[in-house]
Amino acid sequence: MHRTVAKRRASLLFRLLMGAITPIVVVVAMLLNEGQDNDRDEAVSQSLDVTRVVVVGAGHSGGAFVLALRKLGFRGAIDLVGDETELPYERPSLSKDMLTGGNSAQPVLLADSGRWLECCSLHLDTSATRIDLARRHVHLASDGVLPYDVLILATGAVVRQLPLPPHPRIQTLRSSADARAIRAMAAQSRSVAIVGGGVIGLEVAASLRTNGLAVDVIESGPRLMGRNAPAGPASWIAALHRDQGVAVHLGASLKEVSVDTGPIGLLLSDGRSLTSDFVVVGIGVAPCVSLAEAAGLPCNDGVLVNRDYTSVADPSVVVIGDAAARVGQDGGQPVRQETWAHAQTSAQAAARAILGLEPEPEDVPWFWTTQYGRTLQIAGQLDNGDDVISRGDGCELYIRGGAVAGVACLDRPRDFAAARRLIGAKSVIDPCRAADMAIDLRKVAA
Ligand SMILES: Cc1cc2nc3c(=O)[nH]c(=O)nc-3n(C[C@H](O)[C@H](O)[C@H](O)COP(=O)(O)OP(=O)(O)OC[C@H]3O[C@@H](n4cnc5c(N)ncnc54)[C@H](O)[C@@H]3O)c2cc1C
Repeated sequence: MHRTVAKRRASLLFRLLMGAITPIVVVVAMLLNEGQDNDRDEAVSQSLDVTRVVVVGAGHSGGAFVLALRKLGFRGAIDLVGDETELPYERPSLSKDMLTGGNSAQPVLLADSGRWLECCSLHLDTSATRIDLARRHVHLASDGVLPYDVLILATGAVVRQLPLPPHPRIQTLRSSADARAIRAMAAQSRSVAIVGGGVIGLEVAASLRTNGLAVDVIESGPRLMGRNAPAGPASWIAALHRDQGVAVHLGASLKEVSVDTGPIGLLLSDGRSLTSDFVVVGIGVAPCVSLAEAAGLPCNDGVLVNRDYTSVADPSVVVIGDAAARVGQDGGQPVRQETWAHAQTSAQAAARAILGLEPEPEDVPWFWTTQYGRTLQIAGQLDNGDDVISRGDGCELYIRGGAVAGVACLDRPRDFAAARRLIGAKSVIDPCRAADMAIDLRKVAA
């Protein structure tokens, strides 16, 4: 099968060539592909203006980017730098299967070691310490210097900490090492207190309750998942925890912690006191921007990037995953996403841009959380002013201007998929038909 492929230049290549920085143009022969793979077919023509790519951050988006770039046919050099010791892995299992699952305490790898050897030069267990934008060099803690034509920053996010001295029985969760530490503590404990009633805190609560521990959740807001979900779906999740016997303390923050050799004492702001064998703190994350900031790249709750993920200040720097704050076309507030789906799609988008391929249509933002084997999926950009249509138990549609702007579904994957398409289409719906579970959600247009 042969395909005719237009020789397109995506904005990234165009900007690299037109920018003030000396262009490196190495024209390489056409790469003809007989086409076993649709994506690769699209990249049959490639002029490798970019021959050296350095990726800082060997987590989900950094790893996914390398795999996507190779799959699309890139033949230049790729260096992947990561400060963890593990091969690139996905994080969702850290708060779920890695805490509950039998004997295995392994994260889900993006690819095996053989694939990484084929794809890139992997520099693990070392961090990038400085970016020299003028020379286009990245300096490593291990003394190396890596030159680049394009630099990908995939540095993710760092967990927020409580102002407490470090203690082995007070743990946060971001890495597989953290998950193993929590798992080990849980194995020799009978109780845990979780500080923070957001997605990660609640997933850890569900996993450890499933393992038989007594669980207290301490949340300073008036309800669970205040930052992640509308009130309806948050109440479904709260009911799951209540039914499982988790003690949820709302409107209470941690005032004092006393740690000695025995159980940890916790004094809450409303005067209540608790004890637990260990504590997990899940109070959110902050984008990891220190490297970018020190190099002078503009940041505002994330590294500021254009729609194509290039830095607003330097088109040879591309930022993906949790660290990217995308400036809107309408001049609104930059948007940052902390989701598995965004790690994946931003990596794909960056790889396509570097190869001069047209961007793919954008997905509606979405995420999921799994607790006690139940899966809540949420999509769209939700606003407190939206009208709400309940479509039976466990499905809410959020309506703005007569169209579906968002959806939340608990174990309702078909409705979720249909609603995502409605959000993308922005079509006005008939609210009575949408509320009727007997009617297929794909057929509710007004
Ligand atoms: C416990 C947990 C559960 C989750 N569950 C879900 C879920 O169920 N659903 C969902 O949609 N999303 C979930 N997420 C969110 C999702 O995993 C993240 O959004 C995703 O991992 C972001 O990818 P990233 O590449 O931006 O960051 P990461 O995957 O964190 O990768 C960043 C990497 O860069 C490294 N790094 C940082 N600075 C440097 C440096 N200077 N030099 C070298 N390396 C550096 C970091 O150590 C890290 O390895 C979960 C996240 C966590 C932590």
